[in-house]
Amino acid sequence: MSSKISILGSTGSIGVSALKVLRSVEHNFEVFGLSCNNNLKLFREQLAEFNPSVAAVASAEAVKSEDYARLKKQFPAVTFFEGDDGVLELANLETDVLISAIVGAAGLVPTLASLANIKRLALANKETLVMAGDIVTRKVKEHGVELIPVDSEHSAIFSMIGNMDISGISRVILTASGGSMRCKTVEEMNKITPEQALIHPTWNMGEKITIDSATLINKGLEVIEAHHLFNLDYGLISVIIHPESIIHSMVETVDGAVYAYMSVPDMVYPIFNALFYPEIKQNPFGKLDFSKIGKLEFFKYDNDKFPALDLCYSAGKSGGTMPAVLNAANEVAVKAFLEKKILFTDIVKIVEKTMNKHSIIYNPDISAIFDSDKWSRERAESMLPGN
Ligand code: MG
Repeated sequence: MSSKISILGSTGSIGVSALKVLRSVEHNFEVFGLSCNNNLKLFREQLAEFNPSVAAVASAEAVKSEDYARLKKQFPAVTFFEGDDGVLELANLETDVLISAIVGAAGLVPTLASLANIKRLALANKETLVMAGDIVTRKVKEHGVELIPVDSEHSAIFSMIGNMDISGISRVILTASGGSMRCKTVEEMNKITPEQALIHPTWNMGEKITIDSATLINKGLEVIEAHHLFNLDYGLISVIIHPESIIHSMVETVDGAVYAYMSVPDMVYPIFNALFYPEIKQNPFGKLDFSKIGKLEFFKYDNDKFPALDLCYSAGKSGGTMPAVLNAANEVAVKAFLEKKILFTDIVKIVEKTMNKHSIIYNPDISAIFDSDKWSRERAESMLPGN
């Protein structure tokens, strides 16, 4: 029998990879629901190919367009939901597997709502755990949902520590490609344009996460994500730059052994794993050729050049509403950089200044988290030129 699956964010980079995986295993899954933000052109193609029962379009602007009216007419058998509330409605429908792949803080509400209605959460939206890790992991337990990370580093760790005794783990080592700025000086980084920063050396990803990789804030968010997913103290989580992106993370045990998880750097592998775990199945996506790779390199990250990582450790250790504030300020700053309002090196400065002004609320409920998110966005925006 095939499992029912829904994807939140099907036209984004992860959503597209997820559908590529589903295309390769079509008899195992029935696509039940898809949601997009505003890319109606690609959404139309996806609806035609995967024939879901329900669809949601998040963007208020997109649902007002003529193109959307045409889309609804073209697929009379599909039930459409509209706006952010529409995405929430979709998330509230029962399904076996939900892939949460909306970019940024917008993914938290529907992902949280889905937990009462799904068996397995394949989580690509790291903000869900960064912003509300304690609440989400509690709800996951309460509803008996299997939480399987899709972020490649966490997928790797998840696969490796499956049956390990957690007290035997002395360290997890998250690998970072180093992003597009790894070999640049601070002076060069000051002059970098969004176009240049968006070229990632090893991974092909969405815009937001590519900039986050360049500042290393992505790795910092992943440290917080790992803390919640694996219930690890921050002192047990470290980061190493590994430019080839072949090892997706490592686990060191107290006896000195180090386990490394390797694959071709493409999100189809962690998505495949999240869909079939614990089964190990043949996939059509190709294998590593070590004679072609030649060497694997490792470097310590340069804290002076990339202060974001320490900032994330500090936000994570502080806890409470601080990680949500970090995340929201970063979303504002990255957008401003992409719109050429600030320099690349201003991104992390704005995040740090916003964090410094925040009074942490400990053990926040979800509304306190969103209040802090909003506060942080306003603060960060007030720091942009012209405001
Ligand atoms: Mg990652």
